This record gives sequence, C-alpha cells and structure tokens, in this order.
Amino acid sequence: QIDIENLSLSFGNTEVLKGVNLAIRPGEFFAFLGPSGSGKSTLLRAIAGFGPTPKGQIKLDGQDIVGSVPWQRNVGMVFQSYALWPHMTVAKNVAFGLEERKVPASEIGPKVRAALELVGMGDYAERFPSQLSGGQQQRVALARTIVVEPRVLLLDEPLSNLDANLRVQMRQDLLKLQRRLGITTIFVTHDQEEANTICDRIAVMADGVVQQIGRPDEVYDNPANSFVAKFLGTAN
Ligand code: ATP
Ligand code: MG
Repeated sequence: QIDIENLSLSFGNTEVLKGVNLAIRPGEFFAFLGPSGSGKSTLLRAIAGFGPTPKGQIKLDGQDIVGSVPWQRNVGMVFQSYALWPHMTVAKNVAFGLEERKVPASEIGPKVRAALELVGMGDYAERFPSQLSGGQQQRVALARTIVVEPRVLLLDEPLSNLDANLRVQMRQDLLKLQRRLGITTIFVTHDQEEANTICDRIAVMADGVVQQIGRPDEVYDNPANSFVAKFLGTAN
C-alpha cells in the first residue's frame, strides 16, 4: 500500500508537484499518464528517494518514507534509459545490487539465474550489454531491479526506446511478470493504449496535480474535467 498525501516539491522557486494525493493498493498495477513536464518522473523519483526532499507524506504500508535514503526504502526503479554497466556482463549487472546488499555469495548465483529466467534472458548471462538489443537490455534492467525483491516497482517509460512491435510484446510480458510477482507497480507512459491494456487504474496528471484517478474505462467514460477529456481525446 502506497499513500501519498499532500505532496509538494519545488526545484528552486518552481513548484513542480503541487499537492498530490494518491492511494495505491497492494499488488496494483498503476499508471501515471500526462503531458510532458506534468511531473510524472519527478513524482516517481520522489517515491524512490531521488531529488529534492518533498513536503507532505509518502507512506509505504503506513510508514512515512520522506527523508529516508533510497536504499532504506527498498523501492526498485527502472529508468527510461536502461543504463546497464557496459563493462559488466549481464549476470554481473544483475548481481551488483545483491553484492551491495551483502547477500551471501552462495545465494547470488541462483537469485541472478532466477531473475534472468523470469524476464526471458536466461541464455544471455555471459553477454555484455553492447551485444544485446534494446529490448533485451531493458529486460536485463528489469531483472536487475526485481532481483533484490523490492516492495514497490517504479517503471518510468520503460518501453519508450523500443520499436512498436516489441512494445506490444513487452507490455504483455510486463503484465505477466507483475502478476506473477504480485508486486505493487507504478508505470509511467505517454502511451494511453499501453496504460489501458495493462494497468488496473490510471492517474492523469497535469501541471503538478492529479486530475483524475480511476479504472481506464471509468476515466474514459467520465472524464472529470475538460483537460482530461482533451488529453484522452474524448472531448467532443
Ligand atoms: P516527460 O513526460 O517529458 O518525461 P514528466 O511529466 O516526467 O515529463 P518531469 O520530468 O517530472 O516531467 O518534470 C516536471 C517539471 O520539473 C518540468 O517542468 C521540468 O523542467 C522540471 N524539472 C525536472 N527536473 C528538474 C531539475 N532537476 N531541476 C529543475 N527543474 C526540473
Ligand atoms: Mg518523465
């Protein structure tokens, strides 16, 4: 359970989040939609513990995490650019977070193999990132994030660098993986169809506030205001 209460965040004098309120249920696959610059990435980064300290509360299972350092939160984030370490093999990339957390060496191999199997990259453990396609690199980035068993998975436009066919395939894989792990997931995308096909609920953001929250069909059928209607293309 994630409860975001009255969350505001500024860069210098510019307020980018302006009182966000949101409750995300355990195991839910939740999406943020909204125009460029509306604060989606800033909000995700605030949940993960990156960037300026916000005002307000972010509660994970009832516990406020604002002010705690990222590694204490056990929140996993996959960025738009996958940023694997080029000098490390796939297996080393995935093992890195486990080594950092001082997981016993005997457990690392099996955990890495299991995570790579989950994302369909079991056969690529000894390759280097430069020897993989974009979609394969993105799968490895996902494996690297889930291997440490985070409480929450944050995905910031993870499919945006992929071609159209691969996006459609990857979003089904992502949904299956999310259901299998049962992990509360927040997904940021520009692609409405992507959000609608894989997410339980969506939040439409604009100008640093949440305009509407609901199941995709609810939001489409009953846009809360003219902004949401225009953004979703349902205005007539
Ligand atoms: P996009 O869809 O383009 O990724 P977004 O909704 O993720 O957009 P954010 O990246 O959260 O938008 O940015 C929200 C606002 O905050 C923008 O106006 C941006 O210029 C500003 N901003 C983001 N990061 C910083 C920063 N480090 N310093 C100053 N301003 C920032
Ligand atoms: Mg962004």
